[in-house]
Formats: sequence, structure tokens, C-alpha cells
Amino acid sequence: MNGGVTYSKRARTTTRRIRIRRIRVAGLLVVIAAIAAALGYESLASSSSTTASPIDVLRSASPSRNSSRPIGEADGAVPDGTTVFDDEIPGVANLDPALLGALRQAATDAADDGVEFYVTSGWRSPEYQNQLLREAVSTYGSEEEAAQWVATADTSPHVSGDAVDIRPFDATAWLSEHGAKYGLCQIYRNESWHYELRPEAIDHGCPPMYADPTHDPRMQQ
Ligand SMILES: [Zn+2]
Repeated sequence: MNGGVTYSKRARTTTRRIRIRRIRVAGLLVVIAAIAAALGYESLASSSSTTASPIDVLRSASPSRNSSRPIGEADGAVPDGTTVFDDEIPGVANLDPALLGALRQAATDAADDGVEFYVTSGWRSPEYQNQLLREAVSTYGSEEEAAQWVATADTSPHVSGDAVDIRPFDATAWLSEHGAKYGLCQIYRNESWHYELRPEAIDHGCPPMYADPTHDPRMQQ
């Protein structure tokens, strides 16, 4: 009987020790994970300007890479307050270099007039464009209606990096007055914010606008 008590006491003590050790190990792992996360975040943030944010890395690493995966900055979604000078934002960085150069020149001159350009949308991945199209179809009720506003991934000049959407109103008003000098032209009458590069506009002015994208031969493919 005595031996039994001693045994169970010993066993309990051993169990408690193991539990304490486990808690210590778990605590240590949490600390290590926190340090690794902090270091990882810092090295991501301080490394190359084209590195995606940790959230985007997690998103693109997700195994469910299907058509409805969350769209992030790596797809061209731009955060509030993005300007044409934000090299680290893929939606800006992946624009055609000539378009981006013209935008930066124009934005610099506009700033002298007290006008600031913000980018609502620039380059977009095909996945992002397809999501916008699906949203437009559900908003407008039909593919025909949606086509007046949103192109497919195959035809959108945003996907090829040849178009940018600018806000706010005073920026697009400035561009409609001065943009041609930089080769920057509004293309669609129903999209005062959508600009593309037309280098011939520097000498000849911008070409006539299409009423909306459905009149654009590029959209007939
Ligand atoms: Zn646009």
C-alpha cells in the first residue's frame, strides 16, 4: 500500500514537471515566432521596393489559388493615397515606362499649380481584371452593360500596363487642359479619369474620344 502511494506521488510529480517543461518550450516557441515575424517583416519591408507586402505573400502562397482568391496589391490593387511616384506599388511600377514617365512629368508640373494626382488604378493582373468584370456584370445586370465600363482581361489596356485611372476631379480637370502636352489623353467620354499615352498628341493634340469602351476597336477582339 505504501509503495503504491509513493509511486502515484512520484508519477504526479513527474507529470507536473513534464507539463511545466512543455509550457516553457511552448513559451519559448512563441517568443521565437514573434522575433522571426518581426525580423521577417522588417527584412521584407526594407528589401527591394518591388517586394510584395507580407499579406500578399501569404495570399499568393495560399493553396486555394482559384478564380475567387482574394485580390491584393500584387494584382494591382492600389492603397488609398497612391501616387504616380510610388515605385513599390505593383499597380504603378508595372505601368508602361513611357506612360509612367509622362505621368510623373505632368504630376510634377501640376503640383506647381497646387494639384496632386492620385492613382485609383493602374496596371492590373488578368485575375484582378476578371474579378472587376464579374463584379460589373452583377452590378449592371448584363455582360453588354458591363462592357461599357469594364473590359476583359484580354482587351483591357490596364492589364497591358497602358492605362491609368487618376483622381480627384481637379487632377483630371488639369489633365484635360494640359495632358496633351505630355501625350496624356482621355480615351473614353464616359471615363474622365482614364488616361493613356498618345505620343502624337504632343504635336497634334489628343485624338477624338470614343463615347465608351464598346466603341473602341481594341475591345472588339
Ligand atoms: Zn481605366
